[in-house]
Amino acid sequence: MDFLSEKARRLTPYVAGLQPQGAGWVKLNTNENPYPPSPKVAEVLGCADVARLRLYPDGESADLCGAVASVYGVGAGNVFCANSSDEVLALAFQAFFSGKGNVVSPDISYGFYPVWAEMYDVGMVFAPLSKNFTIDPMHYEDTNGVVIANPNAPTSIAISLADVEQLLITNPRGVVLMDEAYMDFAQVESAVSLTKTYENLLVVRTFSKSHSLAGLRVGYAIGNEKLISGLRRVRDAFNSYPLDMLAQTAAAAAIKDTAYLKETISRIIQTRTSTIKALQSLNYNVLPSDANFIFMQNENAPAIYEHLRENKILVRHWNKPRIKDFLRVSIGTEEEMTAFCQTIKNYGG
Ligand SMILES: *Cc1c(COP(=O)(O)O)cnc(C)c1O
Repeated sequence: MDFLSEKARRLTPYVAGLQPQGAGWVKLNTNENPYPPSPKVAEVLGCADVARLRLYPDGESADLCGAVASVYGVGAGNVFCANSSDEVLALAFQAFFSGKGNVVSPDISYGFYPVWAEMYDVGMVFAPLSKNFTIDPMHYEDTNGVVIANPNAPTSIAISLADVEQLLITNPRGVVLMDEAYMDFAQVESAVSLTKTYENLLVVRTFSKSHSLAGLRVGYAIGNEKLISGLRRVRDAFNSYPLDMLAQTAAAAAIKDTAYLKETISRIIQTRTSTIKALQSLNYNVLPSDANFIFMQNENAPAIYEHLRENKILVRHWNKPRIKDFLRVSIGTEEEMTAFCQTIKNYGG
């Protein structure tokens, strides 16, 4: 007997990077942060009031929204929090794109966008990245919606704030969804400041990458109050309490520790620079990175992937037309990246 619904049978689930259970792996395949989260996280979790867990958490995550709002200088009514940015994005697809056509996204981008498009009946159109993998705002005019990861994944390339504003000016009818999962590692500016001027801009962010909290599952959106109440509306038709009490407390402690964030980001950027230099000296083409990962090119990418795996180093490869010659490599610690470069050097040697 096949008990699947027609819809469940039709959909194509997202395939995440491997999470190996054994020890000894160097994990450079899911863009996790190699450093632990802020010590404030352990502090607040250590003195958590476990007896309070008998109660439901605050469905609005008001304290966390307030902490996010004060870091960005926006109102608490401009922030929405949920159980990962994947969940925020899925809710945004339902709130703003469901049933619509001509919602435009780059042909090479985060693999979850087409999955949600199928799941929530969005007629998505894929605009080709230019030859050097940059986004041309010309391809995104007068749409019913735009979804862009900035910096883009897996290419690691970012677009300027001026280009984001161009997208907003040429798309007055649709919501422009900027997925800023990697923005803390970028040289370009975040679009958060533009949410005060453009009522159709929603910026989505996560604690998973720059705040080293992938295991906690917390994401948020910043935008006009009307967009935020749209997200609340679909949330309350799905799960009124998306964030548990401990996650709300821990995430709030993490985002307030801006000094720690700054320090770990600068370490990762330093390692990114030295890794790119080492790979270039081995004659690899590496795209200019604004993220905590790099996208490197070699015609033997699948074989190099296997060589790394045999040496217990995991990276990511997609067997897709424009990017089959590329590997996406997360930036680990300085030691991990030295081991990575050494293993690359030994390839075929
Ligand atoms: C990692 C990632 C996310 C998901 O982040 P979570 O908050 O862990 O769900 C969203 N968008 C992009 C582009 C990502 O790379």
